[in-house]
Amino acid sequence: MDVIKAKGYNIFIGNDLISELNIFLAKKKYQKSKIFILVDEKTHEFCLDRIIKDIPAFANSEIIEVECGEDSKSIEICANIWELLLSYEADKNSLIINIGGGVITDLGGFIASTFKRGILFINIPTTLLAMVDASVGGKVGINLGAYKNQVGNFAKPEAVFISPIFIDTLEKRQINSGLAEVIKHAIIADEKYFSYLEKNIGKSKIDWIEIISKSVSIKNAIVNKDYKESGDRKKLNFGHTFGHGIESFFINKGVDILHGEAIILGMKSEIELSEKYLEFKEKKRVFNLLKKLEHELNYKFKSTDIISYMKADKKNCENKISFSLISEIGKCEVDNLVDPDVIN
Ligand code: NAD
Repeated sequence: MDVIKAKGYNIFIGNDLISELNIFLAKKKYQKSKIFILVDEKTHEFCLDRIIKDIPAFANSEIIEVECGEDSKSIEICANIWELLLSYEADKNSLIINIGGGVITDLGGFIASTFKRGILFINIPTTLLAMVDASVGGKVGINLGAYKNQVGNFAKPEAVFISPIFIDTLEKRQINSGLAEVIKHAIIADEKYFSYLEKNIGKSKIDWIEIISKSVSIKNAIVNKDYKESGDRKKLNFGHTFGHGIESFFINKGVDILHGEAIILGMKSEIELSEKYLEFKEKKRVFNLLKKLEHELNYKFKSTDIISYMKADKKNCENKISFSLISEIGKCEVDNLVDPDVIN
């Protein structure tokens, strides 16, 4: 497997998940303490069941299963799991292995980082979105009602193991949701990668290891420079100020929208703002690539529907909404403060 060095942990990427994970778990001798495996209903069936028999260290682990979906990123679910950990006498050397999409890596990382002021965790992302984004970078957290990621933490995993073997059971919609973040990485940091994606997205055969490695490298390089998000890391928020607002707006209405789908719409809105504020000139190229992911999207909203949600964004200051905008493909500028009254 390829190894990307994050600050304080390694990110392993490749097909040979099982042997690499076995070597890692044996070396660290985690089995002396308790191992907990956090899954949702689908990742239990499609991912954990596929590998559990080949990983001896999993034999005596406790499996904790939550329902699929964003509702599991809640304080009630956290409380249930903290109590469960207590009842199993989990201690400071216990390990939680998060096997799932971004909901599981965000939730499991948050639970691990807060239980007894922090126990160990490993991420094994199983959606493309979690592989290229949610499982790396150290942000963990939960939602407060309809408001996304309002309670959270920075917490480093012991390691992240990314394997494209799990992609084959994902629905197309989920793959497109992950590709939204992949395209974002290219837009904010690397024009050559954007051209590669223009040539490859939509093809029947995709080199997932190439895409995951490139995207994780871009995110990791940014995070290594600015872990706590005081500068460069805000670039990763491109598309997310609108995107999180759009996601919250639809979730609040009971509409089932995926994170990456909201980010596709968020990136389009923020490209329009980039045209206005930074004279960005390649809107057509970006919209054409995003179009390949959009054919089944049919979410209708007005910018004014989203503003109240954007006002709750953690990056805002002076009653203005802070955006990361694009001046050219591969170049992102952070801290563009926009008056909510001019967004329409
Ligand atoms: P998700 O975790 O809900 O997974 C999507 C669905 O796919 C779920 O129903 C899941 O059970 C199913 N699934 C997962 N792996 C599967 C597989 N291999 N085969 C079949 N089905 C599978 O959603 P997501 O899109 O992975 O993540 C979204 C979450 O990630 C959001 O809560 C978002 O806020 C968070 N996020 C966090 C960060 C971060 O830096 N911490 C970054 C981006 C997104």
